[in-house]
Parts: sequence; C-alpha cells; structure tokens
Amino acid sequence: MSLRMDHHDAGSRHAAGLFAPAAMHRPGDGHALLAPVLVLNASYEPINVCAARRALVLVLKGVAMTEEENGHFLHSARVAMRLPSVIRLLEYRRIPHQSRALSRKNILLRDRNTCQYCATVLPSGELTLDHVIPRSRGGSSTWENLVACCHGCNRRKGNQSPTEAGMKLMREPRAFNLHTSRHIMRLMGRSDDKWRKYLFY
Ligand SMILES: [Zn+2]
Repeated sequence: MSLRMDHHDAGSRHAAGLFAPAAMHRPGDGHALLAPVLVLNASYEPINVCAARRALVLVLKGVAMTEEENGHFLHSARVAMRLPSVIRLLEYRRIPHQSRALSRKNILLRDRNTCQYCATVLPSGELTLDHVIPRSRGGSSTWENLVACCHGCNRRKGNQSPTEAGMKLMREPRAFNLHTSRHIMRLMGRSDDKWRKYLFY
C-alpha cells in the first residue's frame, strides 16, 4: 500500500527546499519526525500510516493537507512548522485491494510480534517464522502457511504439523490486505484522540 506521489513534484520544490536535510536533523527533532501520521484519502478514508517527516514532505509538496497537528514544531532557519498528526490527500487515490508483499517484516507486523502458538509478544529479533505445514512436507512459503513463532515453540513443533505436535494456532493465518491494515491503524489510533474520529466510525 505504498503511495506513489513522485509525479506531483512540479512546482513544489521550492517549498520542500526550505527544509534542507541539515535543518531536519536538529537535536530534538528526530523523535518528532518519526512520530506516526495517519494518512487519509481525499474522501477521509484512512489508507496508510507514515512518519511525520514523510507527511510533512507531502504537505510541502502540496499533495496533502494537515488535518490535525501533533503539537510539535519543526524549526528551520526561517520558519517554524507545525508537525501533522493526520494528513489528507488533496486528490483521491484509488487504492488497489492487493496484498502487501510477503516478507518477514510484514508477517511479524500482521501477527503483531506475537508467537502464534503460545501468544508471547517478543521483539522482532527474538521471533522466527514457522511454516505451519513444514517445508519438508510440501508446505509453501505463503501468507497462509507462515506465522510468527518464538524459538521455543519452533523447536517443540519441529517437523510436525500443529495437530501432530499438539499445538494450536491462535488464529488462521491470512494475507495482509487492506482490512488487516485498517485493523492495525485502529490499534495504533486507539490511544490517539486525533486519529480516533477518522478510524472509528
Ligand atoms: Zn511460542
């Protein structure tokens, strides 16, 4: 679900140039620039989450406008800019209902860093990917056959199917589609009042 907007560059380079990389790396700005920003389609439909820095670039390019601010400022030599918390694209974008790329990162994101057998939440580095039906038994590397798994459960399961190992999946693994993304956006927005009105309707 990456948004491609590079063709909207024309005429906005001057504005974006005000915030040279040096200005964007002032001490203290770093964290605020990484804060998640909710991206809405022109129709106010939530479609993505990006870092504040990226959101600011979209606003400066005239591709999006700020709907909500996050209370932080970005200071350049000449201007102080309020950082957005929610932005909205000015032009409606058709979002294809295609799945995200199959990758370790996206599987861990889908499974929210939770071992799908014992429900332990772990940092990405301490999780592995488990083939539900082992590869040696014809199991494929697909969204439906890969789950986040802790090393303990992975060893215990070994070369067996979950049933053979007496283990149960928390839920049926599915492709990471727009529905899943919305679910994750809602989880991220639960504690953020500014996001809430766009996510819970
Ligand atoms: Zn486990």
